[in-house]
Amino acid sequence: MTERISPVREALKVTGRLLASGRIPGQLIVQYTDRCNATCPQCGMRVGNDFTRTTLAEQRVAEMIRHAAQQGVAALSFTGGEPFLCLDEICRLATLAGDQQIRYIRTGTNGYLFRNAERADFADRMKALADKLAATPLRNIWVSIDSSDVATHEQMRGLPGVIKGVEKALPIFAERGVYLSANLGINRYFTGRDKDREQLDYPFFRGGFDRFYRFVADLGFTIANVCYPMHGDDNSNQAVYAATASDRVVYFSAEEKLNLFQALSDAIPAHREKIRIFTPRCSLHALLQQYRGHEELTTPCRGGRDYFFVDSRTGHSYPCGYRGEEDLGRFEEMPSQPCGVAQPCRRCDWECFRDPTELFSPLIDLRTAPGRLARRLWKDRDFYRLWREDLRYYRACDFFDGRRNLNPETLRPWRNPVLP
Ligand code: SF4
Ligand code: SF4
Repeated sequence: MTERISPVREALKVTGRLLASGRIPGQLIVQYTDRCNATCPQCGMRVGNDFTRTTLAEQRVAEMIRHAAQQGVAALSFTGGEPFLCLDEICRLATLAGDQQIRYIRTGTNGYLFRNAERADFADRMKALADKLAATPLRNIWVSIDSSDVATHEQMRGLPGVIKGVEKALPIFAERGVYLSANLGINRYFTGRDKDREQLDYPFFRGGFDRFYRFVADLGFTIANVCYPMHGDDNSNQAVYAATASDRVVYFSAEEKLNLFQALSDAIPAHREKIRIFTPRCSLHALLQQYRGHEELTTPCRGGRDYFFVDSRTGHSYPCGYRGEEDLGRFEEMPSQPCGVAQPCRRCDWECFRDPTELFSPLIDLRTAPGRLARRLWKDRDFYRLWREDLRYYRACDFFDGRRNLNPETLRPWRNPVLP
C-alpha cells in the first residue's frame, strides 16, 4: 500500500507543480480489455457484437505505468470492456502504480459480480471482493448505473438482479473503507420514462437528474458521477474507443444537449449535501458556452497534451478515445511532448478530459496565457464564480477520495433549502 496523505496537502502540491511547470498533472486511461459480458445497447463492446476481442498483456501495461510515472502522470484509469473480468491483473497493476507514486488510480465495473444477492454465499463473496480491492491503492471504483428505473437498467445491461446486489454490497464495502461511486452514462432511457419521446426538453432532464441522484443516494452510494454523451450532431471522428457507439440511445441533438447541460447544472446544488457529486459546474458552464457559439470562452481539451488513451486492440496510445485517426504508437515509448497532436480540440464532450481541463484551466492560463485569463475573467465572470464554488465543494468532499466516507459536517453548508 502507498502512504495515504491528506487530499488538501496533495492538492496544494499539485497546484505548486502546475504553476511551476505550466503542465497539468497527466492522465492515462488504459483500456485493459474489450471483453465484456453485458448487453448495453449504447456500446460497441456489448457481448453480442461479433469481433475479435483483445486483452493487453499485463507486463506491457506494467511498462506503461512505469513510463507514465516518469512522465508525471498523476491519474490512471483502467477501463474496458468489463475491467473486473481481469480483476487480479488490475489489482496487481494498481499496486504497481501506487508504488510508482501515481495517486489517483481508478477502475470500474458493470456490477456483474453483484448479481445473485439472494444466494447464501453472497455476503462472503462480497467481503472477499471488498478485501481484495481494499488491499490495493485503487482510490475510486465506479459502478455503472444507466437508469434510475431498476428494470430499465437491468434490461439495458442484461444483468438481472444487479441493483439489489449493489444495494446489499455497498455497506460491506464501506465497512472495509471502500466507497464505490455510481457512474451514469447519460442516455435517453436514464429516467426510465418517456423512452421514445422524440425531443427531450429541460423538464425531462431536470426531473431525470433529480431522480438519479436520489436513487443512487438511497441505494447507499456516497459519490456520483455522470458521463456526458459522446456523440452529437458532429460524428466526423473515427472513435477508437468502442464505448462511443452511435446508437440513438446515446444520440442528442445540440438543442437537447443545451437542455441536458443546463438541467444537470441546476440539479446538482439540490443534491450535493447528500451525495458527493463529482461533476464540476464550471465545466458544464463552459460546455453550455460552447453550444451557444462562444467557443472562445472555453478551454481547448488537454487530450493529446497531458491526457492519453491506450486502446486494447492495437495496444497503442491516442490523444483520447475519440481521435482514432491519430495513432501515437506505444505509450511506453512516447516522448513527453508528442508531436502534432497539440492542436486545440473541442470536438467532443468526453467528461474524463473536458472536466479536468476546465478545472485546471485558470491555473494553466495564469502560468502560460495571462491575457486569455484576463479576457475570460472580464467576459465570463460566472465561470470563475462556479470554478471557485467547485473548488470549495471538492475540498468539502475530500477531493472525492473513495477511501474516505462522506463527511456530513463539511457538506452541511451545501444544503439546499428548496429540495425538489
Ligand atoms: S458499456 Fe461497459 S458494460 Fe456495457 S457493454 Fe460496454 S463495456 Fe460492457
Ligand atoms: S475534445 Fe478532448 S476528448 Fe474530445 S476529441 Fe478532442 S481531445 Fe479528444
